[in-house]
Amino acid sequence: MVHVVSVIGAGTMGNGIAHVFAQGGFTVTLIDVDPAQLEKAIKTISKNLDRQIAKETITEEQKLATLKNISTSTDIIEGVKNADLVIEAATENVELKLKIFQTIDEAAPAGCILATNTSSISITKIASVTKRPEMVIGMHFMNPVPVMKLVEIINNPATKQTVTSTIVSLAEELNKVPCVVNDAPGFIANRILMPMINEAIYSLHEGVAGVAEIDTIMKVGMAHPMGPLQLADFIGLDVCLSIINVLYEGFGNNAKYAPCPLLKDMVAKGRLGVKSGEGFYVYGSGSKELVVNKSLK
Ligand code: NAD
Repeated sequence: MVHVVSVIGAGTMGNGIAHVFAQGGFTVTLIDVDPAQLEKAIKTISKNLDRQIAKETITEEQKLATLKNISTSTDIIEGVKNADLVIEAATENVELKLKIFQTIDEAAPAGCILATNTSSISITKIASVTKRPEMVIGMHFMNPVPVMKLVEIINNPATKQTVTSTIVSLAEELNKVPCVVNDAPGFIANRILMPMINEAIYSLHEGVAGVAEIDTIMKVGMAHPMGPLQLADFIGLDVCLSIINVLYEGFGNNAKYAPCPLLKDMVAKGRLGVKSGEGFYVYGSGSKELVVNKSLK
């Protein structure tokens, strides 16, 4: 049974994961190397709970109870020592994640499940640096975590069936929709999403259509809630590039996954989308409408 959950990394995803577990009544330790990130994460969770109060989906008492369930730590060894489940949501970097998994494998109790929220790094590779590959699994939440229902659950070849079923039940308990898949580059979500985004960027790069036209075609024609270029801005173009590179390398440099030169160029220029204020659209102009970035074409 899982009661105590440690979340490693208090960034965009880590604070959302801590939020949903704490709201579900679990005891949560949120861990980050950077104390400023922990402080920011608690503020973000509090603000997001206020939004839920405004929508009347939770009460003030539930907000207080949720915050009470979360403690923070900058010490990873202390932070995982009583955990039944650790969910790693640190920066997307292979070497960093391998190091974190070696540390938590040593520090967490024997029966503790070790999960990662990675978008693209091989779960098999992560599991291989631990002495308990059968307890290692992918638990891939979508952004923003309190809102998005999907949890992609990724088995490595050694994952025990009871570990998978525990994670499936937990996701359901959090009112999410779990989908179990096997480990392969990009899993399912990003294997399908990222080539679509890359193809949209190629279409722009080759002058087939403009930003607004590409997004309108996919929104209105395919009933997508957001066009692929706007979605790429929201995800972060650096993140998109790193995931498409994982697909490219993971599938033996297959040309169908080659990152578009325009994507590489935009990342090199620091045009990363919403987070940098400029991507396929420009942000922060105060306009309620999306403003296409004219400097691209
Ligand atoms: P982020 O950059 O917002 O946060 C990462 C956090 O990890 C930072 O606060 C950083 O200080 C912390 N960190 C770095 N090294 C650490 C260490 N050794 N120990 C503890 N904390 C450490 O990143 P994010 O967007 O939240 O992504 C986190 C993970 O979730 C990545 O694996 C990413 O691929 C995955 N993911 C991201 C999204 C998304 O839309 N952002 C969606 C799904 C999955």
